[in-house]
Amino acid sequence: YKILRFIFGDQLNANHTWYKEENQAQYLYVIAELKQETNYVKHHIQKVAAFFSAMENFASALKKSQLNVLHLTLDDTQHDESITTLLKRLAEQYQCQEIQYQYPDEYRLYQQMQQLESHISLKVSACDSEHFLLPYSDINAHFKKDKHAKMEFFYRMMRKRFNILMKDGAPQGGQWNFDQDNRNKLKKADLATIPEPKVFCNDIEIILRRINNHKISTLGHCSSTLLWPTSRNQAKQLLDYFCTHLLPHFGQFQDAMTCQTSHKWSLYHSRIAFALNTKMLHPMHVINQVLSEFDKRKNEINLAQVEGFIRQILGWREYVRGVYWQNMPDYATKNELNARRALPDYFWHGNTKMNCMKQAIDQSLDTAYAHHIQRLMITGNFCLLTGIKPDDVDNWYLGIYIDAIEWVEMPNTRGMSQFADGGLIATKPYASSGNYINKMSDYCKGCHYNVKQKSEETACPFNSLYWLFMHTHEARLSRNPRIGMVYKNWQKQNETQQSATLKRAQWCLTNIEKL
Ligand code: FAD
Ligand code: SF4
Repeated sequence: YKILRFIFGDQLNANHTWYKEENQAQYLYVIAELKQETNYVKHHIQKVAAFFSAMENFASALKKSQLNVLHLTLDDTQHDESITTLLKRLAEQYQCQEIQYQYPDEYRLYQQMQQLESHISLKVSACDSEHFLLPYSDINAHFKKDKHAKMEFFYRMMRKRFNILMKDGAPQGGQWNFDQDNRNKLKKADLATIPEPKVFCNDIEIILRRINNHKISTLGHCSSTLLWPTSRNQAKQLLDYFCTHLLPHFGQFQDAMTCQTSHKWSLYHSRIAFALNTKMLHPMHVINQVLSEFDKRKNEINLAQVEGFIRQILGWREYVRGVYWQNMPDYATKNELNARRALPDYFWHGNTKMNCMKQAIDQSLDTAYAHHIQRLMITGNFCLLTGIKPDDVDNWYLGIYIDAIEWVEMPNTRGMSQFADGGLIATKPYASSGNYINKMSDYCKGCHYNVKQKSEETACPFNSLYWLFMHTHEARLSRNPRIGMVYKNWQKQNETQQSATLKRAQWCLTNIEKL
């Protein structure tokens, strides 16, 4: 073959122009399971299996289109230390004159591929992955290094640029954002009507055996079947299911949490992030399908639900990618709040008396998934309040979630949830006491701790830790107009109450493993 084309595991975009070009006989497409990728962080077993299975299905689909494809498993690449050594070996074996690849989305891989040319005496060239809506070359125009970029303005620009939910140059419905109409708690009557989550039953026995044979260290639980979509066809089925059954209430219950139903882990969320991040689905395909569903069912689906969903894909997803690329590699070392504590052990097994944490961690270990508010306001909030090292927090999130790839995981974790970037993403830390968790969930009812208490032995740890966090970072945060009120409330408490609360918080920190 004249040209070797390397496909990364998250580049499963069948509509890429690569596959439509003439003269395909000259290309050898290579897709490979590699230890380099299974071992850079400890991943959830379902995540590794889902990637491997989706890669295999993608390779089969390309083969069916008569392309020359080399799908390599860990058995084939066990002696290849890295992508570089693999590509060197294959280029020689197949006598290729050139290597081509699509730009990876992670800085780590981007750098590695940049250095490839110096390790290899062949021509190396790269092209766009044709996935994101904002071209890579436009990132500079909308994001500045070390400067906060307001997501809301970015999102409005994207709405205008792609003419999404616009009417005569203005936002449909007369406003850009319907957040205030969304964010309800699930009431008892709502629980019975939550649709059953759409899951798949992909046989992964052979893949699991391979992961085991090669002693890949993983976390979490897994059975011999996988519930996640591992082909474009399944990804489309999941999206169809979302549009038909979940979209009508997506925004309304976007921030709700419950432990009272077996559908608690998924609720009205789409769970398409894995399919999107592996590029089995294109973001514009998702947006168009949601818009067309809205068009067909205007009497059933209101604008607030549709706008709320589109904001996540057209807004947040593209926005965090911009922040990532504009600020890497420095972003990965940011620790603005000087957080130093190690991640408690229960993040790995879920044995904690805090019911909210137990629910979020157990389901993450069981499904490799938690929805946004669980990630942000339960586990993320806890790490923020207790000052866990951002590296530990990042590694946990990067490993445990099915959809975790660094470009999207890190700005959400280090930035949005830990405020370690000093406010490049969030205008204030997403810190909250047990009160918020109680407002948005039914977790507190079944908890060992009392959400109404602050300083007692049975007091909810989030309450005192919240005040200690605010107290510790007062110099920085009291100047923030969005937080000023919090300090007024603190000052309303007498000194005895304040010191009892801070004492309880200190106890919680000292005994963090026992909480
Ligand atoms: P839905 O709730 O159905 O939302 C629809 C889609 O919108 C998602 O699939 C996703 O593509 C997009 N989206 C929503 N919120 C965000 C966001 N904040 N940033 C980027 N895209 C968004 N998302 C990842 O894809 N990978 C991660 O590794 C990841 N790590 C996170 C870590 C933390 C601490 C937090 C707070 C959020 C993280 N997110 C991450 C964002 C978000 O929580 C997930 O995208 C979402 O939970 C995935 O589930 P879903 O597909 O059901 O999403
Ligand atoms: Fe979580 Fe506190 Fe509620 Fe328990 S009482 S579930 S620890 S918020």
